[in-house]
Amino acid sequence: MDFHSTRGAPERIDFSTALLRGLAPDGGLYVPQEWPRQDAEQFPQELALPAVGMQLVAPFAASDRLAPSLSDIVTEAFSFPAPVVPIRGAAAGENLSVLELFHGPTAAFKDFGARFLAACFQRLRAPGDPLLNILVATSGDTGGAVAAAFHRRPGMAVTVLYPKGLVSPTQERQLTCWGDNVRSFAVHGTFDDCQRMVKEAFVDPQLRARQNLSSANSINLGRLLPQAVYYAATSIAHWRARTERLNFIIPSGNLGNAVACIWARHMGLPIGEVILAHNANATVPEFLQRGEWQPRASRATLASAMDVGNPSNMERLRHLLPELDALRRAVSAVSIDDAAISARIRADRAAFGQIWCPHTAVAAEVWARLPAEVRRERSWCLVATASPAKFPEIVEPLIGESVPVPPALADLLGRPTHVESLKPTLEALRAALV
Ligand SMILES: *Cc1c(COP(=O)(O)O)cnc(C)c1O
Repeated sequence: MDFHSTRGAPERIDFSTALLRGLAPDGGLYVPQEWPRQDAEQFPQELALPAVGMQLVAPFAASDRLAPSLSDIVTEAFSFPAPVVPIRGAAAGENLSVLELFHGPTAAFKDFGARFLAACFQRLRAPGDPLLNILVATSGDTGGAVAAAFHRRPGMAVTVLYPKGLVSPTQERQLTCWGDNVRSFAVHGTFDDCQRMVKEAFVDPQLRARQNLSSANSINLGRLLPQAVYYAATSIAHWRARTERLNFIIPSGNLGNAVACIWARHMGLPIGEVILAHNANATVPEFLQRGEWQPRASRATLASAMDVGNPSNMERLRHLLPELDALRRAVSAVSIDDAAISARIRADRAAFGQIWCPHTAVAAEVWARLPAEVRRERSWCLVATASPAKFPEIVEPLIGESVPVPPALADLLGRPTHVESLKPTLEALRAALV
């Protein structure tokens, strides 16, 4: 299968080239040339993630040099589960569940995409290739997931840029606890500055000439595609149990996770409504309402990994659905403020016994605001994007108890940290890298 840029450049490239480049030379994002049809009936009886991943991703990698290793790659990437947990305590007639995507090494959904991409990159390297430098901007969780996935892999290095003071203390430790082939920079700016610096670095002739750069941001196709796998597995399981489509509420920032879900539905999987749950950064909800795309500076919120004012993957969504009316039928979006996030964390601990991370709480609040008949008529699945144990500073005072820390996370948090600081300019990044 071939891939092309959302910005219309005529060039067609294969799967591994799209992964290695990250961003297209015209500044666009790579999208597939065509959509394979996927049918729930054709998936294996046992919906283990590696098997579902193989079936879903194989058409995209067909005839690519990664095709022979794809089975190993999905086994490596999907080595931990994505359980669907029913919520007890919802009102009579309501069917609510939560898809827990935080059982990987850094306790957020980004582990899936980062590990898939790292597994691909390792197999794309030949002996004697120059060092591949993975440049990644993070609003909190991406950097940790990418660092974990690439840490100590030979021939590859990682450069992480994060906004200083705008990630949680626990996230910051996860971004800076690596050393070896991982360099972490605290940028004096916002996530949007970090993302802009990465984009500028890729088109900077001086850096391109001296560094073999690649991206691991959610703009990379190799991060996005594997995220469709858990939506496929979850929706097929639901379809088999109840012969109905499952509706998802997805905590969203840069829209990588949500676009993966919409792509899965586009390929024919039994997914119903998709609601994008945004924090106070309301660029997408306002766009769907007014029809004008007005990106802006990001605002700091309790759900900091979603503090994105100019969501990159909107470009993929608009490429798939260029007509505003079609886009409005395909997705809806809601913005939730910090006060409602806090109140929801408190309320659902009491009502459901669930401890949400601040991002997941945005989705839970969106569900709670649905009309009662919509909650009863359809089955809803909240997407839990991170473990609450990554945000104890926020969650513990709200629920008045401590959040248990998974052992893998506890291990990371105990390591020494390494961090450098950086001005929010391309010049500063260039000077640090060359
Ligand atoms: C990255 C992240 C999000 C937002 O995901 P996007 O793919 O950028 O929309 C939501 N929640 C958590 C915990 C995250 O780390």
